[in-house]
Amino acid sequence: MATTASRPWEEAEPGKIWRGWWQIGAAGVPAVPVLAARGARDGPTLVVTGGVHGDEYEGPAAVHALFAGLEPARLRGRVLGVPVANMAAWQARARVTPADGGNLNRVFPGDRGMEGPTRALAEAIFEGLVRLADALVDLHSGGAALVHLPLIGWYAGDDGRAERLARGFGAALHPWLIPDARGVLSYEAQRAGKVALGAEWHGGARLDPDGAAAYTAGLRSVLRGLEMIDGEASEVQHVDARRPIAGDYQETPVGGLFVPSVLLAERVAAGQALGTLYDEVGVVVAEVPSAREGIVAGLPHLALLHAGDRVAYVG
Ligand SMILES: [Zn+2]
Repeated sequence: MATTASRPWEEAEPGKIWRGWWQIGAAGVPAVPVLAARGARDGPTLVVTGGVHGDEYEGPAAVHALFAGLEPARLRGRVLGVPVANMAAWQARARVTPADGGNLNRVFPGDRGMEGPTRALAEAIFEGLVRLADALVDLHSGGAALVHLPLIGWYAGDDGRAERLARGFGAALHPWLIPDARGVLSYEAQRAGKVALGAEWHGGARLDPDGAAAYTAGLRSVLRGLEMIDGEASEVQHVDARRPIAGDYQETPVGGLFVPSVLLAERVAAGQALGTLYDEVGVVVAEVPSAREGIVAGLPHLALLHAGDRVAYVG
């Protein structure tokens, strides 16, 4: 498999798929796996990313499956896939980059704050790939720490195009108005003028085959929505009219063993108990009230929480 310091996807031959490793040339950053399909005909550029966090697996599997099913001869435009954006984190089976503790999804477009390999990687991916995009889909999961309700989202600043693609992504994912957050790949792509979507699917550092399949089908619906491929008769266009889950994560100020009293997808009132934190002799450390009214869209998978950990997503 090719390893390159150049960017062959910029000049790829029409009708071909390129797979290889991109050496970004920064100290301590392993080569980035890249898949690039250039259609026989002109059209938009879609960038699909997975593995921005190194302990999330449905996204990488879906990027692989999408490319396995792409027919460049019938494609309009270009699809660029980065199945594993943070290879150092992936190799460590960790959310963040081991060398500098950096969360790649907080430092895009690469000029924000921290130095070191995570920042260099963010800049390379944003400048080398995302800048080429008309549209971006960034695929996540809850990782080792969390389990999410499946979500497909867009941002409040969207002009309607990302929302339309998200609502057509697939019935298994709930529409989601993603909270604005600087440094997050999809948010920064949206700010850079791209049609930007973000997705979540379960978590617990497992690979749910239903999630990989739903992501793959959703990506094909995005390709149809961008008129980059023609739909097969079997691919029915779904439109999800549900009110999007909004809200945000909430963190716990204290640690403990978290025993939830709600389930994913349950509707809760503001102040309603989400669960209880216990110490090791069974004393209640804290009750965890919901910060807002809404649907429970994320809960811990790793049940022993530290102060500052995410304890829920309600929106
Ligand atoms: Zn993630």
